[in-house]
Amino acid sequence: MNIVSPIVASGPKERRRSIPVDVGGVIVGGDAPIVVQSMTNTDTADIAATVDQVAALAAAGSELVRITVDRDESAAAVPRIRDLLAARGVTVPLVGDFHYIGHKLLADHPGCAEALAKYRINPGNVGFKAKRDTQFASIIEMACRYDKPVRIGVNWGSLDQDLLTHLMDQNNASATPVSAAAVLREAMVQSGVSSADRAVELGLPADKILISAKVSDVQELIAVYRDLAARCEYALHLGLTEAGMGSKGIVASSAALGILLQEGIGDTIRISLTPEPGGDRTLEVKVAQELLQTMGFRAFLPVVSACPGCGRTTSTVFQELAQDIQGYIGRQMQVWKQDYPGVERLKVAVMGCIVNGPGESKHADIGISLPGTGEMPAAPVFIDGEKAMTLRGANIAGEFKAIVEDYVARRYSKV
Ligand code: SF4
Repeated sequence: MNIVSPIVASGPKERRRSIPVDVGGVIVGGDAPIVVQSMTNTDTADIAATVDQVAALAAAGSELVRITVDRDESAAAVPRIRDLLAARGVTVPLVGDFHYIGHKLLADHPGCAEALAKYRINPGNVGFKAKRDTQFASIIEMACRYDKPVRIGVNWGSLDQDLLTHLMDQNNASATPVSAAAVLREAMVQSGVSSADRAVELGLPADKILISAKVSDVQELIAVYRDLAARCEYALHLGLTEAGMGSKGIVASSAALGILLQEGIGDTIRISLTPEPGGDRTLEVKVAQELLQTMGFRAFLPVVSACPGCGRTTSTVFQELAQDIQGYIGRQMQVWKQDYPGVERLKVAVMGCIVNGPGESKHADIGISLPGTGEMPAAPVFIDGEKAMTLRGANIAGEFKAIVEDYVARRYSKV
């Protein structure tokens, strides 16, 4: 066989070398796995609601949880939230999100400054005019005093306007002006890097600093982070801000972050989804985990591959089985993760007919190929690439789950 154009599967680029940061015992950056984080949308002063939501986010797999600290009542609530979470056995590090008066809240509420594992500040609204430098310095001084890391979180919705105006004026006077979008990107990168460098001058070590530079446009986000990654060694937090609701938010975030992660950029991620009213806040954690897992960076849950179905499937049997198996695995993981280390890498395939069913099933650890229209009412099961048995009758789902359970116990048992 003549292979005219050999295609080599290309993995991610080598990870950008960043300075690792210890955030309450979770390492972000360096060689550490890419960390999943999330943010509550409760009023932090509502202690019970915030504790419940932090616990839910942590149970879903969030490794850091950010909470809003916007006034005295919320700052005063933070130590109590930390204690109540500890009483429930929830030790996830809490990150305080500060705007405008962070310097004052941290100074007035030492219990809050101590209980938080990291402070997130935005150089665009840490203070204005003459107060900016002193208020920024006050926050860095608190971070040094309490030995806490700081995220310099730039956002194009609240960019340092003095810096942006200065760069726009420079660009207008230039013989070779660039686009307004390019100036905006430059302002974001400069705001992040110069603020981080200033924090170092003020005494905060570089291994206590992370940077983010969030925008809501996918192409702009990619461009900003490429620049940022090339111009500093600080650990980077990735996120598409205001990503939106539902599938739009998921697709936009995954497209932007997926490209950056593939280029080796990013040490921690958050998927900023707008939940449906009354919706589940933990969806953002699930999406972040699925993004990292489908790209091969980390494994969190066994993967169930299912074909989309087509005209060869006249019933919803295989969709129901795929859903049933997915739900079963999700529930069983609470037990499996204690007893079966490595089970999160299990791959299961549920396929609708003979066209791709046997082939796809062979690529999984366990696969089942259900009968399509006109096929014999039999479902061959493949284990480790070999046909192991054929299921028939009304209890295919139950029998297949028993086979999965048996496989997990055999393959991943500690003894
Ligand atoms: S495996 Fe069969 S049922 Fe599924 S999409 Fe392919 S042809 Fe259709």
